[in-house]
Amino acid sequence: MRASNVIGEIDFSGQTAIVTGGASGIGREICDTFAALGANVAVADIEQGPAEEAASELEADHGVEAIPVETDVSSYDAVTEMVETVDEAFGRIDSLVNNAGIGESKPFTETEPDLWEKIVGVCFYGTMNCTHAVLPHMIDQGDGGAIVNFASDSYKGNDPGLAVYGAAKAANVSLTRTVAHEVGDHGVRVNCLSPGTTKTPATADWIDEYEDRILESYALDRIGEPADHADAVAFLCSDAADWVTGEVLSVNGGYIRG
Ligand code: NAD
Repeated sequence: MRASNVIGEIDFSGQTAIVTGGASGIGREICDTFAALGANVAVADIEQGPAEEAASELEADHGVEAIPVETDVSSYDAVTEMVETVDEAFGRIDSLVNNAGIGESKPFTETEPDLWEKIVGVCFYGTMNCTHAVLPHMIDQGDGGAIVNFASDSYKGNDPGLAVYGAAKAANVSLTRTVAHEVGDHGVRVNCLSPGTTKTPATADWIDEYEDRILESYALDRIGEPADHADAVAFLCSDAADWVTGEVLSVNGGYIRG
């Protein structure tokens, strides 16, 4: 287990970060890193109980303000309400991390439209909804902002069983690049993080079962940890990445199937 916050000089004091899917897994670690670096945090998650728990822990552990905001990122109306709640609570929005995502491994021929809608709804519409709702706030603030969208190694189309999930993640990559170009004049940067296999509640059982086989595809001989991504997100949202936009950063231990 390695420690988070290796980029210890970053200071987000006085800033606000929204982390979707912030109640669990990678998102929870991202919330922790933002709070440890001084940001107030909105834990935006469909699971209200865990979001409340996370927000309380962030306040207790780091002395920042943290609010749980129950939201379904696949719903534009819900997301608009979530963003208004955050704006009312903190008065500004500096970072948006579109981390919420779901997946299910199944051959494409065995999938049905309701599953496509579910996966694309959270993984791609979630990113569009939150980005669209937050951008006017960042632009009006006049001093920029940072958005980090979430892809996955699967966006390259090399993971049988993850056709729809991979396609939704590829759409996030495309959206990232285009929107980055459109909002750069406002000082808003939009980047994408592409995680490799990482142990979280969503993947732990599968990783425990297939760890040796999974590691054959990685140059570095370990499974990813949420802190690997939290550090990368902190970098992308900080001034250290002031001239980085429209990029896809793979944090994947050198995954070699792409
Ligand atoms: P996780 O399941 O542990 O956490 C996901 C969080 O998103 C949960 O708190 C869940 O309640 C929330 N969520 C789900 N649907 C939502 C919705 N409609 N609205 C709001 N919140 C919702 O997942 P994780 O493994 O931490 O993955 C985080 C991100 O990283 C996802 O985008 C995932 O696709 C991506 N990713 C993960 C891995 C991995 O190996 N874990 C690999 C590549 C990419």
